[in-house]
Order: sequence, then C-alpha cells, then structure tokens
Amino acid sequence: MSTASINSWSLTSPSPAAQSSLKRATLRPTVFAKLNSSSASPSPPSLIRNQPVFAAPAPIINPTWREDMANQSYEEAIEALKKLLNEKEDLKPIAAAKVEQITSQLQTPSGSKPFDPVERIKDGFIHFKREKYEKNPALYAELAKGQSPKYMVFACSDSRVCPSHVLDFQPGEAFVVRNVANIVPPYDQTKYAGVGSAVEYAVLHLKVENIVVIGHSACGGIKGLMSFPFDGNTSTDFIEDWVKIGLPAKSKVLAEHGDEPFPEQCTYCEKEAVNVSLGNLLTYPFVRDGLVNKTLALKGGYYDFVKGSFELWGLEFGLSPSLSVKDVATILHWKLY
Ligand SMILES: [Zn+2]
Repeated sequence: MSTASINSWSLTSPSPAAQSSLKRATLRPTVFAKLNSSSASPSPPSLIRNQPVFAAPAPIINPTWREDMANQSYEEAIEALKKLLNEKEDLKPIAAAKVEQITSQLQTPSGSKPFDPVERIKDGFIHFKREKYEKNPALYAELAKGQSPKYMVFACSDSRVCPSHVLDFQPGEAFVVRNVANIVPPYDQTKYAGVGSAVEYAVLHLKVENIVVIGHSACGGIKGLMSFPFDGNTSTDFIEDWVKIGLPAKSKVLAEHGDEPFPEQCTYCEKEAVNVSLGNLLTYPFVRDGLVNKTLALKGGYYDFVKGSFELWGLEFGLSPSLSVKDVATILHWKLY
C-alpha cells in the first residue's frame, strides 16, 4: 500500500476512472447475469461435462479390480498384468503404471499405503457427496439457483487456514479470495485486476454485507515481508513484489517493536498487515460507498493455529460522508470484538 494512494481518495467523490468503471459495470448487465446463473449458458464449457466425474480408464480406477488385486500375491498380479498386456496392446501404458504402483506399494512399510493423488481426490469427493451434498438437498437446490453470501473473506493461501474449516462457513456463505499473506492490494485497474474484480463482484453484484480480512500465525508471506531487504535487488519472481504491499505494516512494527525478537515482530506484522489491507479496501470507491451507506462493514481477523484462538476486530466509529479517506487513514482505530 502507498499512503499516497489512500490519501488521494475522498469518501464522497470517486475518481473519474473509478466512476467510468462503475458506469461500465452497470451498463453490462448481461455479463453478470451469465456469471450469476449457469442456465444462461446453453452448453457447458468443454472441460465441464455432464458426465461421471471419474471417467478415467476403468482398469486404473475400478474399485473391484483393485480389491481383487489386493488379494492376489505380487507374482499373481504381475502375471495377470502381463497377460492383459499381451492380449491388449493399447493397455500397455496402463499396465506399466499398475506394475509401478504395485512395486512402490511393496517398497513401503507394511500397513501404510503410498499417497495416490487421484484416489485422494476421488475419496474426498465421494465423502463430500455422501455426507454433505446428498444429506442437504434443500441447501444444494437453493444454491443451484444462485448465491447470496453475507461475507467476502480474504484469507492466506496457507493450507492450514481454510476459512470454511476454521469458521465453519457452509457453501454459499462466504465469497473467498485466498492469496499469499491474505493481502488486499490498493485499487489499481492495471496491476491488481484479479483482486479488484473479486471485490467489485462481491460488493456490487453479490452485495455482501461484510468484508473480513483474516491473518494467521506463522505466515510465510509475512515472514517474507519482514525478511526481504527491498533494496532494489529481488530474489523472487513474484513474491517480493506482492508482499511489499504490506510494507507500511512492516515499518510500523519495526518502529514500535524494533527491539523485540524476530518471531514476535512477525506476529505483530501478521496483524498489522490485516489493518493495511483494510485500509487498502477504502481505496475502492464501491467499498467506501458501502461503508457510508452502512450496507457494508469491514472486519479484521486473526487465526492463531498454534494457540487455537481467533480474534475479530472492526472500525471503532461510523464513517460519515464528510470524512475524507485521509482523515480515516490517520485515525483508524480498530475495536476488538
Ligand atoms: Zn500465510
């Protein structure tokens, strides 16, 4: 975030560029109608077919065949495969893969199966379909018509912090953006169209009522922000350029906690970076409009998976139309719920 970019906005008068983007958005209802409803598209995209999900060649995924194989000895299984191989030339690659699989199974300690990425996805979907999808027909019938989430959530890509797990969000409850260090960049139509389009869609079209930015403990992205020198030399293709959006948080932490150990500084920065992101959200004209009209609220969150705790905070005061973003930026105080 650059402070200048926040300071250049006022709550009541979006820039001409922002106004024209809003105008364009409202002039193109058909685009959003398509996004909102799958029935608007006459035929499904070529990669999403109305066919069984696991349509791989049967010899690889047929469960019966696998069970039979498990009861056979290694030699018997190999013999069976060789027989198949001789009979059907086109099965050669499949049989070769199976031989490789059996061999690797034999090399692992007894009782432990080697990780099979396809089986894991297949098992996961079957579990979801049986335990969730088929047990909640009313919910999924409703979701088939459209979505109306109350929350937009920014969370880190970290595999340990999925907000649907941590906050028990059900399908349809949260419109989620995940990226390295759960950062919301400032409004920039050129550099950050990905995040910008998500915020625009969530606020203007889904009409979410809350945007929650959730930081977390032991965040690798924030550790990078605190570690990289940002001296003009880069050692990464993308990461430094991305996490440097949080530089104001790093500066604040170094100013206030510069004499504390590095791990503690990172913890402070994990929370301060959330505040930077919340401040950056104020650079989006439709977010400011939502705050002024009280149709939208911003909240910060922090999930500590070491302690198993969650903090939530929000703006301590209401915004008034006469308050400029510069004023807001200098007196931002966040209240812990
Ligand atoms: Zn993280």
